[in-house]
Amino acid sequence: MADSDMTAEPIRVAVFGAAGRMGSTVCRAVLDAPDMELVAAIDPPHEGRPLDDFGVAGTGLTLEMPGPRVKAAGPAVAVDFTHVEAARGNLRWCGLNGVHAVVGTTGLTADDLVDLSALFDGERANAVVAPNFAIGAVLMMHLAALCAPWFETAEIIELHHDNKLDAPSGTALLTAQRMAEASEDWGADPTRTFALPGARGGEGPAGIHIHSVRLRGLVAHQEVLLGTTGQSLSIRHDSYDRTSFMPGVLLAVREVAGRPGLTVGLDQLLGL
Ligand code: NAD
Repeated sequence: MADSDMTAEPIRVAVFGAAGRMGSTVCRAVLDAPDMELVAAIDPPHEGRPLDDFGVAGTGLTLEMPGPRVKAAGPAVAVDFTHVEAARGNLRWCGLNGVHAVVGTTGLTADDLVDLSALFDGERANAVVAPNFAIGAVLMMHLAALCAPWFETAEIIELHHDNKLDAPSGTALLTAQRMAEASEDWGADPTRTFALPGARGGEGPAGIHIHSVRLRGLVAHQEVLLGTTGQSLSIRHDSYDRTSFMPGVLLAVREVAGRPGLTVGLDQLLGL
């Protein structure tokens, strides 16, 4: 941040899902950011409870419903880490109330994005939606697509904690999709017999195989393996805890007001 920015008014931030794992981490990150002010914490299932109960001490904030009290707090930007049905309602509230939105909640569909681009039309408010706010993961996907045309074989191994309900991860699927868009020239799978069904993982876009590891002690990790004659290249990203997402979230909070309409993914914010 440039010194001159320190003289500007702090960005007033509200957090949807403030009692949750990601939301409470966002609250702490906003409190630690010198150019931001946490003005509202929203989490209807915990309405009326102090934010202190969720590991965010000393704000004096109480968890709210979205509504007039949140509007009166005057947020310029709202961050949403909830679940998909809740996010749809929260984003509608933001769009109609002229509050810019930064959305990390996963599970939004292509139809949702069409609706959001109408709601966040750049007139009333803007939105940044990113299924992965870890800057390293965004760079990993970018590098994988950049490298794809130089290799004929690739496999993706994603590794997550043992509570993850879905497989493969959205990031692994998106990585394969971007590699498939970057190159059509992929070698055929040589496997003809299986001693164990599924041994080759799942087949993603362009036939790129994706392997999902679930292991206690892990957080979120991914390795992209690319091979060609006589050489291979591995690109690996590791998220060790939820703070890994915070630089990306804070970047989006700082940028969203200056990016008219709907922005999907962090790539544009990183200049990729
Ligand atoms: P969580 O269950 O710990 O937290 C969700 C919170 O939302 C809960 O406190 C819940 O009470 C609250 N909530 C429910 N309805 C609400 C509503 N209408 N308004 C406001 N709050 C409401 O979940 P989590 O682990 O924090 O994950 C939240 C979301 O973030 C998930 O969709 C997850 O996949 C996603 N996520 C995204 C990234 C990324 O980089 N984009 C990273 C990690 C997690």
